[in-house]
Order: sequence, then C-alpha cells, then structure tokens
Amino acid sequence: MGIVVQKYGGSSVADGEAIKRVARRIVEAKRDGNDVVVAVSAMGDSTDELLGLASQVSPLPPARELDMLLTAGERISMALVAMAISDLGFSARSFTGSQAGVITDSVHGKAKIIDVTPGRIQSAIDEGHIVIVAGFQGVSQDTKEITTLGRGGTDTTAVALAAALDADVCEIYTDVDGVFTADPRIVPTARKLDTVTYEEMLELAACGAKILHLRCVEYARRYDIPIHVRSSFSHLEGTIVRGSIDDQAHQESTMEAAIIAGVAHDRSEAKITVVGVPDKVGEAARIFTALADAQINLDMIVQNVSAAATNLTDISFTLPRSDGAVAMAALDALQDEVGFESLQYDETIGKVSLIGAGMRSHPGVTAKFFASIAEAGVNIGMISTSEIRISVVVSEIDVDAAVAATHTAFDLDADEVEAVVYGGTGR
Ligand code: ADP
Ligand code: ASP
Ligand code: MG
Repeated sequence: MGIVVQKYGGSSVADGEAIKRVARRIVEAKRDGNDVVVAVSAMGDSTDELLGLASQVSPLPPARELDMLLTAGERISMALVAMAISDLGFSARSFTGSQAGVITDSVHGKAKIIDVTPGRIQSAIDEGHIVIVAGFQGVSQDTKEITTLGRGGTDTTAVALAAALDADVCEIYTDVDGVFTADPRIVPTARKLDTVTYEEMLELAACGAKILHLRCVEYARRYDIPIHVRSSFSHLEGTIVRGSIDDQAHQESTMEAAIIAGVAHDRSEAKITVVGVPDKVGEAARIFTALADAQINLDMIVQNVSAAATNLTDISFTLPRSDGAVAMAALDALQDEVGFESLQYDETIGKVSLIGAGMRSHPGVTAKFFASIAEAGVNIGMISTSEIRISVVVSEIDVDAAVAATHTAFDLDADEVEAVVYGGTGR
C-alpha cells in the first residue's frame, strides 16, 4: 500500500461546503488503497482575520501569544475536515502540529522545522485512520512553546510530513491548476508549466510567487521529494516541481524550449535609504550588523558612488514591510555613531523578477527584459541578479504593467486563456 500526502490551502477549505468537497477528495485517495495523511490550512482568510483581532487589542502583540492565536485557525479546519470524513463513513484522526511531531526552532512567527517525529501519525495510519494534521505550526525543541512557520507555512508542513513518511510525492491542492508563467490573477493569459525545477521554483517563491512557501521548496529539494501542485477544484494534472537545472535532460530541453520559467512579482517589500553615509571603511558593516542583530532579512542592496565634493554616499536596501518599523528604529539608534544625514522609508515599491535556467546560455535576456519594461513606460529603481534571475524594483502602481509587458515580450502568453482562478481572494 502506498502513502499519499496531501495539503489543502485556505481557499480549498473556505466554508462547510468546501470542507465536504475536500473530504470527498481525501476519501477517494483512501478508497484507491492508499494510506492518507493530509495537512490543512486555516479556513479562507481566517488567519488574516485573527491577525486583525490581535491588532485590535494590541499594536505589537507578544510573539508567543500571536502564535497561540494563529495556530487556532488550523486547529478549527483540521477538526472539521476530520468530521466531514467520518460523515462519509471513514475514520479520521486530527492532530495539532505538536502532536504530529513537527519539531521546530524557537523563533516565533517564522520557525524552521528541524525534525519530524511521526510516531503518533504512524500509529494512527497503522490503525487504519486517515490522518489530518494542522499545518503551519510546530513545537519548539528548546522552549516547548507552540510556534508558527510563517505565512503560507502549511506547504512546508506537508513536504516535511512527506519526507518523514517516505512518500513518493507531496500533493499541494490549491485554487489554481498549478504553477503558471505568472500569477493568473494579474496575467489571465499565463500558461501552466508541466514541470519546473527546484532551483527555478525556489527563485519564483523567493520573488513573491506565493503559490508555494519558499521553505517547502527548500525542504523538497533537500529530501528530493517531488511536489505536485494542482487544483482542489478540478481533476486536471498540475505542475510537478522536481529535478535540477544541472540535470542533463533539463539542459537539453532548455536548448530549444523554455528559456524562461516565469515572471514573479512581490508587493510585500519596502525600501530604506540611508542618506549621506561617510565613505570610509567599516560604515556599511556597522549598518548591516545593526540590522542583522535586529533579525532583519534584507533583499537587494545598492550603494551609490560617493559624491567627490562631500565624500558622502547613499545606501539603499529592500526588506519585508513587516520589518520596516523595527529596521528604522535600529538605524535611528545608529545615527550619531555612524554620522549619516537621514533615513528615508518607502513602502510604495514593488519587485518584478524574470526567472529561467535558460538565461544562463541565452545572451540578451537582460536587454530584452529592460526594453519591455521601458516600453511599458515603467521606471526602474533598483536591479539585482542571480544566475537564473533578474529582478527590478519599480513603483508599486507599475507592477502589473511591468509583469504583463515582460510576459508578452518573452512569448509566454497562451493562445487561449487556460488559467482559471477557482477561489480565494488573493489576499
Ligand atoms: P492556498 O490558500 O491554497 O495556499 P495561496 O493563495 O497561498 O493558496 O496560493 C495560490 C495563489 O498563488 C493563486 O491563487 C495565485 O493567485 C498565486 N500565484 C502567484 N504566482 C503564481 C504562479 N506563478 N502560478 C500560480 N499561482 C500563482
Ligand atoms: N494559515 C496560514 C496562512 O494563512 C498558513 C497557510 O495557509 O499555509 O498563512
Ligand atoms: Mg499558500
């Protein structure tokens, strides 16, 4: 008997009817003769609603209590899914992340899974139950506190369970038919990818394509678990995430086929500029050490050439908007020591990224990318690249236009619209 690990996202379990539909789908896998383990997200936008409640009672809630609150969302859906399954005449057992043996580090709000000890899940499987696990949560090895894995973290729960249970594949059920060449919510002509490599999917996820949680792709690559991203609303084959850009077969196929995997966008970042930094050894190190001490992950960094007359330079970088206030406070405290002139904070930015392994062997991709953005009348603020990615920062209001222009310039548009968004609010 095989083991099937599935994940259902918030839009797939948004209300009672949706939960009954998902329960029928889970039971189908069991009827086919498989052992079935399912990770579920909180219903619909309920995580956002819980965050809203928290902010009503406290502008900066304690991280421990916020995790206690948010994990309740997945606890509600796991129990309801289990009930709906038993109503179909099958037995199901739900487990919190902690009960399921999802062990994490102790960083509230963005904990990393460090181990999965699936003893209780295995016993439940052996007793013939369908197992439902609350996604996005675990328990800290050190502090024994309940933790959450960061927004979208149920994807990572599912892949970690698939690895621990030695499943052949992890199925991620969502509200679109797979991974597309762009977010179908802003590019209706986006095309579904049949397969995409781990490296390209990592870049897509890191650049804002929230179809998969970044950590889930990292985990899948490390344990070599293929991910099948597909819709819970249709029976179409989805996208398989597997393989490396260094595989022979992949290299041969990119010689003539897809140079570009897709275009991603991100509206969750902000830009800070440190104005008038004295151009001498060690100043940048001081600034970035202060930010690292505040646990802030930076994305792009640009330092201008210093003005000859003043010997002062500006340093700009991007970071998650959610870390903006903490970063500004950390830098403020540094102003006298470093002697910079001022700080600027800008939340009205967006990032557009072009991703594809084929750009390694095809010259001219960067030129075409910049030309397409210019033709759309969009100004580029910052640029960064990796081996298989080019990203630009633009004004937030220009993101959609830049994505659409790039998508068309690289011939990614489908002849007939195939992208269907079945549910969700895109929040
Ligand atoms: P779930 O609730 O199932 O976890 P998410 O909202 O987290 O679903 O992720 C699915 C959404 O990801 C889609 O509805 C779509 O708007 C968005 N998305 C962004 N980029 C892409 C992409 N390249 N391909 C498919 N979907 C994408
Ligand atoms: N419910 C959590 C969120 O909304 C986790 C998830 O859905 O994966 O981010
Ligand atoms: Mg998600």
